[in-house]
Amino acid sequence: MDSKIKEIHQQLVSKQITCTALVQEKLDLLKQNTYNSVNSLLDTLALELAAKVDAKITNGETIGLLEGIPFGIKDVYMVQGTYTTASSDLLKNYKSPYTATAIQKLLDAGAIPLVKENCDSFGHGSSSENTIFGAVKNAVNPELVGGGSSGGSAVNVALDYTVFSIGGDTGGSIRQPAGYNHIYGLKPTYGRISRYGLMAYASSTDCVGPLAKSIEDIRIVLNVMSGKDPKDQTSTTSEEITEEGIAASSIKTVGYFKNFIESEAIDAQIKADFLAAIEKIKAKGIAVKELDFFKSDILVSTYYTLAMAETASNLSRLDGTNYGNRIEGDNLIDTYAVTRSENFSEETKRRIVGGNQVLSQGFSDEIYLKGLALRDQISENFSKDFEEVDVILSPVTPAAPPKIGDSLKDPLAMYLSDAYTVGFSLGQLPTLTVPQGTTTGLQITAAKNNDELVMQFANFLKDTL
Ligand code: GLN
Repeated sequence: MDSKIKEIHQQLVSKQITCTALVQEKLDLLKQNTYNSVNSLLDTLALELAAKVDAKITNGETIGLLEGIPFGIKDVYMVQGTYTTASSDLLKNYKSPYTATAIQKLLDAGAIPLVKENCDSFGHGSSSENTIFGAVKNAVNPELVGGGSSGGSAVNVALDYTVFSIGGDTGGSIRQPAGYNHIYGLKPTYGRISRYGLMAYASSTDCVGPLAKSIEDIRIVLNVMSGKDPKDQTSTTSEEITEEGIAASSIKTVGYFKNFIESEAIDAQIKADFLAAIEKIKAKGIAVKELDFFKSDILVSTYYTLAMAETASNLSRLDGTNYGNRIEGDNLIDTYAVTRSENFSEETKRRIVGGNQVLSQGFSDEIYLKGLALRDQISENFSKDFEEVDVILSPVTPAAPPKIGDSLKDPLAMYLSDAYTVGFSLGQLPTLTVPQGTTTGLQITAAKNNDELVMQFANFLKDTL
């Protein structure tokens, strides 16, 4: 599909539609929706901004490409004056005191925020069922999960309720719901977009990224959000990615992880479709190389060890003193305990307990430090791979989306369903889900800062598969 942003821009400039009518139509769709994709609507702000865009067009002023384009925001980003709940009881009445850098850049470019979107609470999950706002339903089949944790964002884009949405990806939360709902979703190189104003889950892998229906829209939104930010010391400067730069593919060698495809956990259809995609790529004269990689269970346990440790640390500030729904106990310690145990979900508590365990004296050397060492080995493995191949291709998930309710019964099975996404997060590599190849799409990964290559190959796959 071609750029929706450009199509709408053209319609606005040629006065085929007004921005107010466009925004109102999308707000109505969001309000009436039955997919549980909405936590709160930003209707007053959105209509105010739309009126300004219309006034500019009426006055004959030129408008930028993103001006007047409606978008959605996962409910973990600060937008000053709006509720930012992280889909949790603890923060259900919390209002953002400031705006996240990535979102501010979109606002400065004139894009119009419509909605704070449902997700797994604090990003903890792979199905968007771990939320106080009701399980997000899949856009393709509402009996299935929307995927997670950025499920609401993926579903809103898939159903055209938003033109693009901004998700967050710590271990797969943009890529997996994009795959489950047949759209594009990019986790950029770690640090390319500032994390300032994104509620921290695991700070060393948290990434801001766009979900959209075309590669071109992903490119446009990525460029606007990218850049070094003094408020996030891990952010970096990056070159703008041009339309011409991703039009033709320079990729000569593609790799894939043999053990991902030979794993017992992979669904037979996904495996067959993946191998068929590989054959089509070979038929275009591209060399394909099988690569060795860590076993999925090692990737998943390394990721969850580190992610739980980081989230236990990050969420320790949420005790009802400065933030959150305070519940008074008999004394201060009791107040902390009751506030946290009553207001965090089961899944979040499991992670806080697990994280504090792996960080605690007597265990941290054996578990946490071992996790860090494994992460270094995983990164080295990637560096070696990218001496031999330009990009790595993988399925996004081992299986199709589960039915709503099924993943809640078995947290371990849910963790294992992240087998193909978490490794690239640990490596901090740019990875894009494309809606082709298998029923949950394909992931394209390149070396750090090669986000452009990933998008080039996506364009190639769009024409090839
Ligand atoms: N499903 C993974 C987890 O629960 C990834 C979540 C995310 O990327 N926020 O940790």
